Amino acid sequence: MIFGCHLSIKDGYLGAAKRAYSMNAGAFQYFPKNPRSLSVKDFDQNDAALCKAFCEENNILSVSHSPYPTSLTPINEQKRNQVIQSLLNDLEISDACGSIGVVVHFGKEVSHLTLLESYQLIIEMLNEILSEWEGNAKILLENNAGIPGAFGTTLEELVQIRRLCNYPEKIGFCFDTCHAFSCGLWDGENWDLFLENALVLGYLDHLKLVHFNNSKYDTRIGKDRHAPIFGPGYIKETQFDQLVQTPQFANIPFVLETPKEEIPHEKEIELLQEKWGDHGKVKN
Ligand SMILES: [Zn+2]
Repeated sequence: MIFGCHLSIKDGYLGAAKRAYSMNAGAFQYFPKNPRSLSVKDFDQNDAALCKAFCEENNILSVSHSPYPTSLTPINEQKRNQVIQSLLNDLEISDACGSIGVVVHFGKEVSHLTLLESYQLIIEMLNEILSEWEGNAKILLENNAGIPGAFGTTLEELVQIRRLCNYPEKIGFCFDTCHAFSCGLWDGENWDLFLENALVLGYLDHLKLVHFNNSKYDTRIGKDRHAPIFGPGYIKETQFDQLVQTPQFANIPFVLETPKEEIPHEKEIELLQEKWGDHGKVKN
């Protein structure tokens, strides 16, 4: 299995990669720029190239996460243009760092639009961004948290949006376990059903990343509060077992977004590797 965590770029992109290596992680996620802003970053190309080379040499996968204000359902024209420019910038940084893609949350239901128009807006946004993008990094659409049936919480929506976009080959998926648990998409008891549906829909063919998180709230409550994998979270170890041991997940990076003040990520990765094995990286 390939385990990793979200890391800061306070020491640059190469610094984050080196930190992942020192933690014995096989993967890491980072914010390509200030996570609270959509402003375009004039990034250090050299640092990014060194990150890419270091990751290739040490067999580490990386992925970026778009800043928090990024939305595929922007509420006005100004925000729409900001998001498009920002995401193109994220893709460029990710490509330069050798990352597999940029995680982007599925949009939200827009209050002044119909449901269908909200979906159409997501497709328009993706088309506009990806028509200008020729690099290798993909947009990785992440399933939303929410109550059962909330917007963007089902595999059907993710698969359909990808299919209806003009550039499906530039889109992959990121599966967040806490989000899936929050809405009952995966409630801990229905893995076989989930898997069957995921296979029928072709979701797993494009799954590139797992956000590996436990949940502080029970399933179907719609709360998105991440908890450490081992501990008082509502998803049980035996339930995670089923997911981790599913063959289709064997080569996909599992990245922790768990509260590191409750257990340091270094320690948590060690526990994951003890339990489920480490095929992510061989230290020289
Ligand atoms: Zn996530």
